[in-house]
Amino acid sequence: MKINEIAAQNYAWVERMGWHNKTPLEALALVASEVGEAINECRGDKPTDNFPEELADIVLRVLDIAYWQGIDMEKELLNKMQINEQRGTRCRVK
Ligand SMILES: [Mg+2]
Repeated sequence: MKINEIAAQNYAWVERMGWHNKTPLEALALVASEVGEAINECRGDKPTDNFPEELADIVLRVLDIAYWQGIDMEKELLNKMQINEQRGTRCRVK
């Protein structure tokens, strides 16, 4: 399944749950809350077994916003990776 298909499927599920009555700013706050949950899974010597699930929550929250806003995330991700490749390093290694 491609990333935009995952975004569409996840968006439909969130809509069925009735969780879409929020602003983009509120939606971004929910991304931040998932980052906090992922952080909590890394407070020990190594990430817990629940860490991958929290990373998935972060991605799904981002994809939900992207689908809602009509953003083609596959295109944006590939474009940004190309920009990053051309940018090179910001740090000079001595
Ligand atoms: Mg979570």
